[in-house]
Amino acid sequence: GAKARGRGAYCFFDESLIQAARERLEIEARLRVALAQGHLRLYYQPQVCIVTGRIMGAEALVRWLDPQEGMISPARFIPVAETSGVIGPLGQWVMRAACEQGQRWRADGLPEIRLAINLSPRQFQLTDVAACAAEALKASGFPARCLELELTESVLAERPDEIRAVLQRLQQLGVRMAVDDFGTGYSSLAHLKRFPIDVLKIDQGFIRDIPRSADDMAISAAIVAMGHSLGLSVLAEGVETPQQLAFLRERGCDAYQGYLCSRPLPAEEFARLLQAHNGMAG
Ligand code: C2E
Ligand code: MG
Ligand code: MG
Ligand code: MG
Repeated sequence: GAKARGRGAYCFFDESLIQAARERLEIEARLRVALAQGHLRLYYQPQVCIVTGRIMGAEALVRWLDPQEGMISPARFIPVAETSGVIGPLGQWVMRAACEQGQRWRADGLPEIRLAINLSPRQFQLTDVAACAAEALKASGFPARCLELELTESVLAERPDEIRAVLQRLQQLGVRMAVDDFGTGYSSLAHLKRFPIDVLKIDQGFIRDIPRSADDMAISAAIVAMGHSLGLSVLAEGVETPQQLAFLRERGCDAYQGYLCSRPLPAEEFARLLQAHNGMAG
């Protein structure tokens, strides 16, 4: 009867929920182990100056190298880290690891570059981001001017007063701030002006269909113009073709990141690319 069917439906629904919850718990537990046992790695993707062609920086992107499963994508474990709170210690690990690597490259005499790392909205609730950054910089000796923190528009929208205070402390340290995936969230222009932001990163979704999409070309050009009029530097993400780069150069975009230069690379490969590339660019 209807009652039995109803119960069956509930059971089915519960089963899939339980299944999803079980999978989340499993990833969470394994992620804690991975963090403790050193199975996380940072990969580095070059950020290139469009005017000079030189590599000016790199975005550090976390990877999970599971001894059994191989590489696990951040798309799979960052959301779990966020809901479970593991993003707190994970984010601290990323901050320290990036600063230590950056300082090692300086000691090795590599050209000075800036390192950008990603911050989740949850990290601002779980940890004192400014204190973490100060500690990582001090412990490593990596200069604050070389550290850039990427946050999303949602961070600025949620608790603006608290976030502004944190960002101001970071600015006082000399750390730079970038808005990641710009254009995909609540892009309040008033917000931008009220936070100490240095860089806008145009989301790769607006770059992908250039030059096929007139709309995306208009949006990207508008972001560059708006960023510049607010005194910000603008970087385009996900640049894959020379045509896309030519368009961005013509519109005065400052920098780019994307497969056209390189995929994210393990530290040693990135260092080799940096030497060879900037050596060539002069
Ligand atoms: P994101 O910060 O927007 O990073 C850019 C993503 O685009 C990276 O994916 C990068 O590998 C990819 N990408 C770069 N160039 C190209 C390109 O030319 N074409 C295409 N199709 N893709 C490109 P990834 O490494 O898988 O990272 C995905 C997201 O995971 C990141 O997006 C970031 O939001 C998050 N994430 C990565 N590492 C961390 C971390 O340490 N902490 C936090 N909180 N989030 C992280
Ligand atoms: Mg990013
Ligand atoms: Mg991005
Ligand atoms: Mg993105």
